[in-house]
Amino acid sequence: MALADEELLTELPSRHGGSNDGCIPARTAMSIDVEAWFHVENLRGVVSRESWRHRALRLEETMDRMLELMAGNDVKATCFVLGWVAERKPALVRRLTDAGHEVASHGYRHDLVHELTKAEFLSDVRRSKDLLEEITGERVRGYRAPSFSLTDWAIPLLEEVGFEYDSSFFPTTVTRDRYGKLTVLAGSDVSSLPDDGLTEVPLSCLRIGSQALPWAGGGYFRLLPYSVFKAGVKRILRSGPYVFYIHPWELDPGQPRIPGLRRSQRLRHYLNLEKTESRWEALLGEFQWTTISGLLAQRAGSENTGGHVA
Ligand SMILES: [Zn+2]
Repeated sequence: MALADEELLTELPSRHGGSNDGCIPARTAMSIDVEAWFHVENLRGVVSRESWRHRALRLEETMDRMLELMAGNDVKATCFVLGWVAERKPALVRRLTDAGHEVASHGYRHDLVHELTKAEFLSDVRRSKDLLEEITGERVRGYRAPSFSLTDWAIPLLEEVGFEYDSSFFPTTVTRDRYGKLTVLAGSDVSSLPDDGLTEVPLSCLRIGSQALPWAGGGYFRLLPYSVFKAGVKRILRSGPYVFYIHPWELDPGQPRIPGLRRSQRLRHYLNLEKTESRWEALLGEFQWTTISGLLAQRAGSENTGGHVA
């Protein structure tokens, strides 16, 4: 994939700063994993699956606020909706498509992919894709694995089900036990996977020396000062596209506090929740965001015209 020239890149990152504002295609993709606070893998040890149906989802109010913020900043996002949520909140899923956002699949049950058999995985992704397509009347093109837990064997199965892209690969060098290991990919840019037609859109990492820090959202976004995070995004954009992810529960400081968590688990889930909305709003205004499908379409258009997107 060709790199854009240095002069253009200095103009690219800020939507407010450059004279080419409005002419430069967005290379920043916004994504939201639409699930409730209790679906999070980090809480699995203390929140049983059996208890899910008795718990307040809380995400509808937060998603509506997120929709408002995105509309105010003219942002379109890819919403990876968990099937379990879509089944209970079909009207919310329709509101996402009505507002022009892309609805994609986060699977149905939020199981880690590498803990499933191939048959179980196939059934889970099929169920979620069928459900979302039934609700929206639109084709679901993308998939993101719970906790980025995709493994090599799942790739041909995603293609079999009819997905066009996956966005589950997190090529960080910082250990994340639950993250999947796609050995077929080495780089951190948008890449076509070998052997099939599926395109992988990895989550962004910031390279510092030999390290690749997860710089796509999550704990780092909530932990670091906003100015530092933003500077990292701008640096990533010098060599390729940028993909960000967030969950509605990260903007919900009023969610129940669950006892029995280890300190590290508590920090990971509850850190700076009260600051996330304002930080995310600033990020929405800072860059020119598109959906993941939008990013791929720009890449295809750029390749056709000989231009450079990434
Ligand atoms: Zn998830």
